[in-house]
Amino acid sequence: MADMFYDEDADLSVIQGRKVAVIGYGSQGHAHALNLRDSGVQVVVGLRDGSSSAAKAQAEGLTVLPVAEAVKQSDFIVILAPDQVQRRLYAQEIQPNLAEGAALLFSHGFNIRFDYIKPGADNDVLMVAPKGPGHLVRREYVDGRGVPVLLAVEQDASGEAWDLAKSYAAAIGGLRAGGIKTTFTEETETDLFGEQAVLCGGASQLVQYGFETLIEAGYQPEVAYFECLHELKLIVDLMVEGGIAKQRWSISDTAEYGDYVSGPRVIDPRVKENMKEVLADIQNGAFAKRFIDDQDAGAPEFKQLREKGAQHPIEATGKKLRGLMSWIKDGSTDSDYVEGS
Ligand code: NDP
Ligand code: MG
Ligand code: MG
Repeated sequence: MADMFYDEDADLSVIQGRKVAVIGYGSQGHAHALNLRDSGVQVVVGLRDGSSSAAKAQAEGLTVLPVAEAVKQSDFIVILAPDQVQRRLYAQEIQPNLAEGAALLFSHGFNIRFDYIKPGADNDVLMVAPKGPGHLVRREYVDGRGVPVLLAVEQDASGEAWDLAKSYAAAIGGLRAGGIKTTFTEETETDLFGEQAVLCGGASQLVQYGFETLIEAGYQPEVAYFECLHELKLIVDLMVEGGIAKQRWSISDTAEYGDYVSGPRVIDPRVKENMKEVLADIQNGAFAKRFIDDQDAGAPEFKQLREKGAQHPIEATGKKLRGLMSWIKDGSTDSDYVEGS
């Protein structure tokens, strides 16, 4: 069993004794800033000039400052801008204004694991990574609960880095649910693998192939959409509630038998070999380099792939059908988060 932390393992006064700057006020940033404030922590928000998020933060009564100024005034910096902008933001706005001995906190280890950010030896380098979207992190906190978190310390310059990480995790509500001890390397590599191989990449491709197979065989796209995409949520909900076992318990015996005999034909051992190659490219930095190099060039590959995905015929079919289902509002469910980090 992994090492776990709960509220009773944390001392809230540790983070209450620091001046916190939350850089970025998006999905995670808004949730962390508001939960910290409501836990009695001094917090300011750092945003770039002309930021579209500033008004939202100000409406909550938060102090919004330029990133450089927020960093100067603080001794605990929470970096919650998108991963692909963090390196430049750190080099240009954060590092030059960082107080000696300031702590840096991340919610995903990408830039530390792949050396895009190299903190000084005097900085504590921490991770508190909620295992859910920012909007859920805020809503659960307000309801007196919390979203589980991963905690890690990459560098313990002060000797109190773990106390700080636990205190921060408690302040955003994460230790109400529970925190799991990990490392930057484990969090980064497993997070990237999960989203690429299973949750996002794997699931998207599986759904598309299933849909294509049915329509190429002459079945109606609307029917194919229900069978290959829409019902996936019902299955996944059962898995989340009670594992694959509960899913198999709930479905018909016909479906369960088909699961056993056809699942391994579709997802055969070659798929696992492919997964190992994907994992190797994550571990050796090839994926990170490809992503960041493309982003630095203005994201031509990313934009082209996004456009191609949007053109897949399943999207047009789905748009039409979702319009018939009044209870599904595009983009307004919990799943405006997909995987997240
Ligand atoms: P978002 O994309 O929601 O962050 C957007 C925020 O960052 C906005 O306030 C935006 O301000 C600001 N921002 C964008 N570019 C810059 C810039 N160049 N300088 C300053 N501020 C900028 O990020 P997420 O919350 O999704 O991710 C933040 C971190 O949390 C990442 O490390 C991610 O991996 C991790 N994470 C995210 C999860 C999620 O649910 N989304 C889950 C777990 C971890 P503006 O209005 O100016 O654009
Ligand atoms: Mg069926
Ligand atoms: Mg991720």
